[in-house]
Amino acid sequence: MENVILQLSYLIGSITFILGLKMLSHPDTARKGNLIAAGGMTLAIFATIFLYEYTGGEGQPVRLHNYLWIFGGLIIGTTVGTLAAKKVQMTSMPEMVSLFNGMGGACAMLISLVEYNKPDVKDTGTMLVIVLGMLIGTVSFAGSIIAWGKLNGSIKDRTIPGGQVINFIIFAGLITLVILVVAGIVPDMPGLFYAILALAALYGILFVMPIGGADMPVVISLLNSFTGVAAAFGGFLYNNPVMLTGGILVGSAGTILTILMCKAMNRSLKNVLIGSFGGAKTGAAAGSKEQGNYKEISLNDSAVLMAYAQRVMIIPGYGLAVAQAQHTCHELEKVLNEKGVEVVYGIHPVAGRMPGHMNVLLAEADVPYEKLLEMEDANDQMGSTNVVLILGANDVVNPAAKDDPASPIYGMPILEVEKAEHVIVNKRSMKPGYAGIENDLFFRPKTSMLFGDAKKVLQELIAELKQV
Ligand code: NDP
Repeated sequence: MENVILQLSYLIGSITFILGLKMLSHPDTARKGNLIAAGGMTLAIFATIFLYEYTGGEGQPVRLHNYLWIFGGLIIGTTVGTLAAKKVQMTSMPEMVSLFNGMGGACAMLISLVEYNKPDVKDTGTMLVIVLGMLIGTVSFAGSIIAWGKLNGSIKDRTIPGGQVINFIIFAGLITLVILVVAGIVPDMPGLFYAILALAALYGILFVMPIGGADMPVVISLLNSFTGVAAAFGGFLYNNPVMLTGGILVGSAGTILTILMCKAMNRSLKNVLIGSFGGAKTGAAAGSKEQGNYKEISLNDSAVLMAYAQRVMIIPGYGLAVAQAQHTCHELEKVLNEKGVEVVYGIHPVAGRMPGHMNVLLAEADVPYEKLLEMEDANDQMGSTNVVLILGANDVVNPAAKDDPASPIYGMPILEVEKAEHVIVNKRSMKPGYAGIENDLFFRPKTSMLFGDAKKVLQELIAELKQV
């Protein structure tokens, strides 16, 4: 009976993961989806603690009993995780995801270490699962920690001379060792097993080290899929369906997200991994050329243009997140609404520094979801928009993506803001964005620059609008 309850809990856990993941795909249901999946995970954890049985030393069924360790770990982990998640700034989110993902990889690694050191005889299949779980988990752990260090600035982008060759040699070495250990070609050599552990850690470090800091979100998503696969190996090992489902879902979701991010940037994964785009090699000077003159617009003129518009489209970008101006932006929207102006938001899929960054940012400020237009819809409505207000966005509105085959972002779909009547660009200077390239949009006839920190400019714009 107890085993039936345990299996039922696992089934419910698996269903909640799938349901939660589905609900995460829409901002309206995302919070609920997260809670549902977390509820399923809690159920599976407690069912395992109190109902799971394994065969003990004397061949008797034994329950988990080391509650001090289990609950000690649970309490510490829950406290640290909750505090970190509550405290984190939106712009530091990729950093935290990376660290948490690293912990997942470390768990998979530890599971394999514990299982390897158990005295029972292991068949080839079990050894394969143990070794692969450790290898992938360790790569993910080491890589995620480097990614975390890069994002918080403590580790600088570093190109290692001959790095790709070294990585290839390590990779080949790892495959050879895995075959030797799993097939038992060299029996009773724990040294080989630990050599896999050390090489996997080195591989994780060297693999992430040269990648441009700004490419980290893509790398984190990739490492996230590695952790999922490593966890799925744990599921195989313990014959645990909920761990298997969770691992497979994380693995596949991470892979899909990685592909989607690459597609939205119009870059191949290979280019992200070895191209160092936006990283150490490309700087502000990359792609710069003579651009001519740009014109500035005053706060008052901007306010007048917007106050007499029928529709204003706001294009948020990374700079809005940096300025933490989402609440002020929502306030501007309300002031414009009071004047009878329709306000919508044009959301580019890779605006900001993580998938869904702008949606999350604006949801935090209670901007109604119906006002957020996906890129295709925003482009459809652009022709009937009077004023486009670009807030800290750069690459996602760069016409070079359409017009300049030599540009590194050529082919990336963009928000076609020039179809609107007027374009106002708010940023602090003429510096380039993430891709490190100039933006011809700033020099085009329809465009006017409104310089300053997004939050400050928005506050002043609101004050001006109230006077109009
Ligand atoms: P960009 O990085 O292209 O540009 C942001 C602009 O914001 C900068 O030019 C900067 O100009 C300005 N800015 C910075 N701080 C402020 C501030 N306080 N107030 C006003 N402006 C500010 O951002 P986009 O959102 O347009 O593009 C995102 C880029 O990130 C794309 O290239 C995308 O490929 C990439 N990327 C996105 C990922 C995702 O998942 N979303 C993942 C990985 C990469 P200035 O310094 O002059 O103020």
